[in-house]
Amino acid sequence: MNFGARRKKAWAVAQGAKMDALVVTHPPDVRYLTGFTGSNGTVALVGGRSGFRAVLFTDGRYTAQAGAEARGVKVVIEKKSAVGAACAWLEAAGVKRCGFDGTQTTVAGLAAMRKAVSGKVRRGMFVDVGALVAKLREVKDTDEIAAMRAAAALGCELFEGMLGYLRAGLTEMEVAAELEHRARLRGAEAMSFETIVASGERSALPHGRATMAKLPRQGFVTLDFGVVLGGYCSDMTRTVHLGSAMKGEWEVYDFVLEAQTAAVAKVAPGVTAGEVDEAARSVLRRNGLDKYFSHSTGHGVGLEIHEGPRIAAKQEQVLTEGMVITIEPGVYMPERFGLRIEDIVLVTATGGEVLTPSVKAWTEL
Ligand code: ZN
Ligand code: ZN
Repeated sequence: MNFGARRKKAWAVAQGAKMDALVVTHPPDVRYLTGFTGSNGTVALVGGRSGFRAVLFTDGRYTAQAGAEARGVKVVIEKKSAVGAACAWLEAAGVKRCGFDGTQTTVAGLAAMRKAVSGKVRRGMFVDVGALVAKLREVKDTDEIAAMRAAAALGCELFEGMLGYLRAGLTEMEVAAELEHRARLRGAEAMSFETIVASGERSALPHGRATMAKLPRQGFVTLDFGVVLGGYCSDMTRTVHLGSAMKGEWEVYDFVLEAQTAAVAKVAPGVTAGEVDEAARSVLRRNGLDKYFSHSTGHGVGLEIHEGPRIAAKQEQVLTEGMVITIEPGVYMPERFGLRIEDIVLVTATGGEVLTPSVKAWTEL
C-alpha cells in the first residue's frame, strides 16, 4: 500500500494551506494515511527539518493491532484521549497552526482539542481546513483500484448467484439474509450498508430496506447492496422481474436502462459531475419520467459508501482519472412500481470502465 505517498500528498496540501501541522481523526482518513483500522486513532503530521513526521496516537486496546497495521509512522499508546495527546504533542513541537477537518469534528471534539493545549497557543492554533484527506481519497491509487475491483467483482458474483434463488413467496428479509450470508461466506468483512430489497409496490421506494413483505408472483424486485472487502465498499443495484411484465413496466425499464447507459458512456476525465447527471436525467426528461427520478445520479465510493464526488445536477466538479463513482438513475412511481440500475464506474485515462458488469438487460425470473 502507498501509505507514505498518501501522507506526502496530504502534507503538501496542508502546507499549501499554510499549516505547520495536520491532525486527522476520521477513521477512514486514518486508515487511508496509515493502514490502521482501529476505531480510535489520531494521526498527527508535523513539519520538521527533513520534510515532515507522522505519528499515530491510539489507546491500549490497539497496541498489537497498531504495531502490525500502521506503516511508516511512530505509534504512541495513550491512556487518555488520543486526539488530546496528539494536540499536546503538537504544542510541545512548537506548532502554531494545525489544520483539522471541520466536516468530521464535533463541537465537543474541537473543545477537547483546545483543552489539551495551553491558553498561550489555544487561540488560533486549530484551523478548519475542511475535508482535506477525504478530498485526496476521491482519486484512488493503484492499490485502491485493485481493492475496488475485487469488491465489485464479489458483488457481481453474489448478484448472479441470487438469480437462482429469487422466487415469489420469499420474504424480502429472507432474500437479504441469504445474500448477506453468502457474502460473509465469500469473505465480505461487512455489507457496505443495509441491504435494500424492494419488491412489488415497495419497489417504488428508492431506499426500501428489506421487510417481511413477500416477493410477488408478478412485479419488480430491486436489489441494492454492497460488500466490504479489504476495507473498500462495493455498491450495485439490479432490478429483475418476477413473472411477465405488466402494463408500462417494460417501457419504463428500458428508459431507465437507456438513461443509465447514457450516463456511463458520458464518464470521462474532464467531464463535470453535472454533465454525467444530465446525461441520465435528459433521457428520462425526454420520456416524461424525470419527475419520478427523485435523487442524484451517483456518488463516489471507496473506504466509505458515500464519498465525493457527488454526481448530481449542476455539480461543477470535474472528473479525473482514478475516481470511482456510481451511476444509479431510477424511476419511482408511487403505489405502482419503481426500479433502479446501478454500476460502479472507474474513471480511466480515456473514459469510464464499468467494474460491475453483471447483465442489465430486462431479466424475467
Ligand atoms: Zn446502491
Ligand atoms: Zn449507490
